[in-house]
Amino acid sequence: MNSLSAVFKSLPSVDKVLQSVTLAVVIERVGHEGVKLETRLQLEQLRQKITQQDEDSLNWLSSPDFFEDLCRKVKSKVEAEFSGSLIPVFNLTGTVVHTNLGRACLPSAAVNAMTIAATQATNLEFDLATGKRGDRDSHLEESLCALTGAEAATVVNNNAAAVLLMLNTFSSHKEVLISRGELVEIGGAFRIPDVMKSANCILKEVGTTNRTHLRDYESAINSETGLIMKVHTSNYEIRGFTNSVTESDLSQLAQEKGIPFVSDLGSGTLVDLKQFNLPYEPTVRQTIEAGVDVVSFSGDKLLGGPQAGIVVGKKELIQRIKSNPLKRALRVDKITLAALSEVINLYKDPQRLTVRLPLLADLTRPLSAIEAVAVSVLPLVRNSLADKAVVESGACKSQIGSGALPLDLLESHALIITPIAEKGHTDAALNRLAASFRSLPKPVIGRISDGKLIFDLRCLRDVDGFIEQLSSLLL
Ligand SMILES: *Cc1c(COP(=O)(O)O)cnc(C)c1O
Repeated sequence: MNSLSAVFKSLPSVDKVLQSVTLAVVIERVGHEGVKLETRLQLEQLRQKITQQDEDSLNWLSSPDFFEDLCRKVKSKVEAEFSGSLIPVFNLTGTVVHTNLGRACLPSAAVNAMTIAATQATNLEFDLATGKRGDRDSHLEESLCALTGAEAATVVNNNAAAVLLMLNTFSSHKEVLISRGELVEIGGAFRIPDVMKSANCILKEVGTTNRTHLRDYESAINSETGLIMKVHTSNYEIRGFTNSVTESDLSQLAQEKGIPFVSDLGSGTLVDLKQFNLPYEPTVRQTIEAGVDVVSFSGDKLLGGPQAGIVVGKKELIQRIKSNPLKRALRVDKITLAALSEVINLYKDPQRLTVRLPLLADLTRPLSAIEAVAVSVLPLVRNSLADKAVVESGACKSQIGSGALPLDLLESHALIITPIAEKGHTDAALNRLAASFRSLPKPVIGRISDGKLIFDLRCLRDVDGFIEQLSSLLL
């Protein structure tokens, strides 16, 4: 007992650690309190180890470097704690709009606008002409109407919020007619039947999974019907013996019966993507022209902007959405609004979109440019993996992602890495290899397919940054 208390006595005080030269810079950066807490924690853990007669700890304590080691340990713990866990990565997955990797990267014009909105007071909800309260949607509404042909527009947190809001506004405690083939799950907890429940709506399925006809909707309409809804089946396709009802037919039926008709477009696009040699996707304007009353779509899928849900349509119906108390809970923040305005403005000049909007630049990147990236990185990656893996380059296919155009793949080029391992150990070697790329300072995320690690080079822009950190690869 005596010897134990003698050992405890030999531990430095918290103050002594805090006064060390090693910790001066980190204290300056994060403040005294954070470092003090960590120091206390480290000393407490050490006391417990000593009580348990832990040999390593006792040896450490008696080593000449103990004090300096302890200070360094506190320093690195504090630095790790304050460095933040949201960090940039290289998206070499081949999925351009990758939800788990943050979807679209924003153009610099949007980033500048975000900085201004974030650091200065703005006229977010202030009418400069009258000096009275304004509407935050006013900053976008005119542009959105001009680009889509709609009468009015509003913006919320994301498209999931937009769908919830449309359902709740138009059909609370009433029936929503929707085709059985459109009861989609987008991923995570977003499943149309569940969203209907959350919005207080009664789901009324019409037709069958593969075929739904106009008469199915017609015969389902009764006094309890609140809404007709169409959901873009963005992440799957039903093929074969199929039938679905066109938007113009449905809109005519809805109009005759005096029921609102809404469409969740999912990705949505403001321009015809075929002009960029991309697969066809219905535009918001076409959907509005087909007679749909209200259309919703994402800000950060094919649009290439920040996370947002955009709702456009008939003035009277958009007004009802705006007056729903839920709108206040789901509204978009000023920083997003600033970024979205800039992105929407880029769409007024479609010719330059593929240069100015990073998402479209990636989606339309010429194969020759992607191949050129492969030529420049191949020897270096090969070199850094030496006897651990065979590295080749070859053709691959990129996906747009986030449910947009799931079946259409873009020609691309990749590094194809096959680990060198004894038979029966290839999976473990492959996982180790992928993990070591993920532990780089700027993690490199690829995809594993068929026993190989694939790095699709479509989205690799910072080639120098990619190459530079290869020397830190721990295999
Ligand atoms: C992606 C998607 C949503 C959800 O949009 P978020 O912007 O991710 O909230 C809703 N409906 C459809 C059809 C989608 O594809």
